Amino acid sequence: MPTSPSIMDTRRDQMFPVLEPFEIERVRRFGKVRSYDDGATLAKVGEVGPGLTIILAGQVEIIRRDELGHRTPIVTYGPGSFMGELAQLAGRPALIDAHARGPVEALIISPDRLRALLIAEAELGERIMRALILRRMGLLETGAGGPVIVGRPGNGDVLRLEGFLRRNGHPRQTLDPDTDAEAKALIERFHIDPGQLPIVLCAGGQLLRNPSEGELARCIGLVRPIDPTRIYDVAIVGAGPAGLAAAVYAGSEGLSVLVLDCRAFGGQAGASARIENYLGFPTGITGMALMARAYNQAQKFGVEMAVPDEVAGLEAEDDFAPRRLILRLSNNERVSARSLVIASGARYRRLSIPNLEGFEGASVHYWASPLEAKLCAGQEVALVGGGNSAGQAAVYLANQAAKVLLLVRGDDLAASMSRYLVDRIRGLTNVEVLARTSVTGLEGRDGMLEAIRWRRGASGEEVRRRIQHLFLFIGAEPNTDWLAGSGIALDAKGFVLTGADTKEKLRPLETSREGVFAIGDVRSGSTKRVAAAVGEGAQVVAALHAYLATAERTPAVLASAASHEKRLR
Ligand SMILES: Cc1cc2nc3c(=O)[nH]c(=O)nc-3n(C[C@H](O)[C@H](O)[C@H](O)COP(=O)(O)OP(=O)(O)OC[C@H]3O[C@@H](n4cnc5c(N)ncnc54)[C@H](O)[C@@H]3O)c2cc1C
Repeated sequence: MPTSPSIMDTRRDQMFPVLEPFEIERVRRFGKVRSYDDGATLAKVGEVGPGLTIILAGQVEIIRRDELGHRTPIVTYGPGSFMGELAQLAGRPALIDAHARGPVEALIISPDRLRALLIAEAELGERIMRALILRRMGLLETGAGGPVIVGRPGNGDVLRLEGFLRRNGHPRQTLDPDTDAEAKALIERFHIDPGQLPIVLCAGGQLLRNPSEGELARCIGLVRPIDPTRIYDVAIVGAGPAGLAAAVYAGSEGLSVLVLDCRAFGGQAGASARIENYLGFPTGITGMALMARAYNQAQKFGVEMAVPDEVAGLEAEDDFAPRRLILRLSNNERVSARSLVIASGARYRRLSIPNLEGFEGASVHYWASPLEAKLCAGQEVALVGGGNSAGQAAVYLANQAAKVLLLVRGDDLAASMSRYLVDRIRGLTNVEVLARTSVTGLEGRDGMLEAIRWRRGASGEEVRRRIQHLFLFIGAEPNTDWLAGSGIALDAKGFVLTGADTKEKLRPLETSREGVFAIGDVRSGSTKRVAAAVGEGAQVVAALHAYLATAERTPAVLASAASHEKRLR
């Protein structure tokens, strides 16, 4: 069967550019020259390296090594080539091994100097940045350097861990213990009981038994402890489009920024199979692709990411330090900041069916990504919801599923869905819309759904249909539980009040507490769209400058406010 060509085949030149001698001279000021003996290690899977490495003399061999001990050469770099991928931008652990072949001389550029280079050297910076992104995409294609998950495909926890790594742009491999000899060998070697699956093997050999996302993230070096003594100019809670936009604009204007997200970057937008109404993308773009660009862009501007890290609370105002905002994290760490942007968005609503939770993960889904679409290939699936996200998911799933039953509470789709989606759904022969329909029961065993029951109209007969996958797209509630006790005013539905909506008539987007701002879906009265969230992310930075300039006159804040003013003139 023909396979699609790999990124290594199609974009090799852009992945592995060679810098000209005059270009190396231009970037020398950003790094330090180091020498390595024959055979020396320049990078090791799972360990944080010194940074981007430009080879000045000699050769360096790059090897893909997985936790099962397989070694596959990827490329050999010579003079003018540079070694690194996205991990080097953020100072994260390497996903490959690198060894000197003969004596090597190299220019090492640390992560913070690399970010400075990318900004100062626009054309060269673009080529380097593109290579770093393409190399990460190449590693994602092969799973190189990522953890190995051993578990049955379709198992709820396997899907949870795969989904978490995919959403965070981290490579992975999954081995099925029923068919893969290496998976069987691992299970025997570590004496794993089938009930303890899935297990995860991380770089460095640590074995995790059905870990939480937080445990896995720490094991693979995705998150690190936060410096408790550091005071950020701004902390942003939520790495959806609103939070990432605020991070890019605040970071690019010189503010020190920390972004925290309890799940992954991208928020709800990252779950969108195809965003077709975002300005500038006439053929549409997957939410993940759009959000990954924003995530990398924010890191280029020096924004620090704490993902996944959950914010559990905002401490109440302290009379002795009124200008300090303290965030409490679920792992008991603390973050101090001069200002705060609440961009924690919204979460999906659930059906009130008593045994729903037991099927979440394996059979009941709140996303329609390639992972879920693969699970449903050739099957009949049910999807509940009448809004745009339901419509998009139905169109997407119809590509893979034999049939999509779209269950809508209202009389027809037109009342709640955009015209273009309604037309598209009407044009699909394998999507059937069931109006005035409500789910009444779920049947199945061991987390696997076997049948769904629903009723059409108040007095309609209950229908039972054999279906293994149910998708729910029935709206969202604000993620504001963590604000309890913080003194921030919310509306009746729990969304954050801002600006003129609060009694104090503060700055635009400012909440009832000075120095705390709210943007995107979490804000009362906001337009629930990616473009609106991004717009508010950009807008809030002006309000942040205005606040910080009056509150804190640190050199960084003053310089950043002055450059912001200059741009506005
Ligand atoms: C499936 C789907 C498809 C969509 N398609 C489109 C589309 O095509 N076009 C369009 O314009 N809009 C679309 N939307 C709507 C759009 O995605 C949202 O309006 C947008 O994502 C809102 O951005 P946000 O940054 O405000 O919040 P969110 O995207 O909700 O991001 C909030 C982030 O905050 C994090 N968070 C929450 N609480 C905490 C906490 N306590 N600690 C740390 N982090 C926390 C969450 O994990 C999340 O990542 C879609 C939504 C969905 C669900």
